[in-house]
Amino acid sequence: MRTISILGATGSVGASTLDLIRRNREDWRVVALTANCNAQELAALAREFGAEIAVVADESCLPELRDALGDSGIDAAGGASALIEAAARPADLTVAAIVGCAGLAPVMAAIEQGGTIALANKEALVSAGDVMTAAVARHRATLLPVDSEHNAIFQCLAGNRIEDVRRITLTASGGPLRTWDAAQLRAATPAQAVAHPNWDMGAKISVDSATMMNKGLEFIEAHHLFPVGLDRIAIVVHPQSVIHSMVEYRDGSTLAQLGPSDMRVPIASCLAYPARMETPMAPLDLPALGTLTFEAPDEARFPATRLAREAAQAGGAAPAVLNAANEIAVARFLAGQIAFTDIAALVARALEEGNLPPAPQTFAEVLDLDRATRARVTAMLELA
Ligand code: NDP
Repeated sequence: MRTISILGATGSVGASTLDLIRRNREDWRVVALTANCNAQELAALAREFGAEIAVVADESCLPELRDALGDSGIDAAGGASALIEAAARPADLTVAAIVGCAGLAPVMAAIEQGGTIALANKEALVSAGDVMTAAVARHRATLLPVDSEHNAIFQCLAGNRIEDVRRITLTASGGPLRTWDAAQLRAATPAQAVAHPNWDMGAKISVDSATMMNKGLEFIEAHHLFPVGLDRIAIVVHPQSVIHSMVEYRDGSTLAQLGPSDMRVPIASCLAYPARMETPMAPLDLPALGTLTFEAPDEARFPATRLAREAAQAGGAAPAVLNAANEIAVARFLAGQIAFTDIAALVARALEEGNLPPAPQTFAEVLDLDRATRARVTAMLELA
């Protein structure tokens, strides 16, 4: 029996992870489950899985959590430091599935324990970049990529040498607005932007998928996880989301990973790593799928991948600024306060305006940069 903590247990990745745990109860003991404020759902999960502790990041939700846990004997805690302490509890595997840079501090706490982290929370790695990868090396921690593309690349790299890689190709579905023209994109509503054709995900990543910023963040994520050089990482639009990514080697062989558009597949690969486990997925039916198609990304209509590539090339503070500006912009779009096309425009302005600060050297400096950028972008919106 192995122990597991799930940060962001009430979200989409959290639910997919717990679904797999539910099917294999005898293999796992749950240590910590966390949420932001969804106390009822968190308490129900903590009871179902017999967690040691349930934590809400938002301390104001702790009374509700305590109430919902009643006399279950499960510890309840709330607030930023409680979240960090829960992430630092010893566990064989920590699933990092909080959305946004809010997940960075708990991920770093898990890394500092030298544990194995199944990382879904790409924003944390994009913001902290080298600071995080250096901490992973220093503490001899292990990062297993949950993101379906990076999990695919990880699988395609197995048994090969990174120096033999000619190119890594990230596939992108193109999102629900892939075929829309500029005028339609300008008028896209939050409901239209989150209606992803292939994947069922949380609201923030669904919008990122529609703007293609998700692929931009993944480009930076891939750069940190698989250091082949930025010019060896490509993006191709593949609307069917059957091929999750590919690795091409210098001998001309390209290895691809295929599977259903269901996060339980890459999550299962992390849970069982380096072995394999059963999932409830139907076998891949290629004749039923028929045709797989590929397109070059259109960076005129969807500039986010260009912005992310430029931020990665600039390095230093740029990726953290890109991520923080995007988080603010997506929240404003979901709240109906800005247009869909304003998201990338705002990120571009955040990167252009003001002198970018020097590269953050420590985890505390990454958090400061994230906070300062959020404040700067919020001020830009208020002045507009
Ligand atoms: P969801 O929005 O569905 O869930 C987010 C989780 O994080 C919830 O448990 C939520 O708690 C918690 N949370 C939200 N804000 C905070 C905060 N400020 N502090 C602490 N916890 C917080 O997100 P997803 O599951 O879709 O995505 C999670 C991460 O995984 C993201 O980084 C995303 O990019 C990545 N990812 C997701 C995929 C997917 O298929 N969904 C695929 C690949 C990567 P509460 O319920 O209380 O709000």
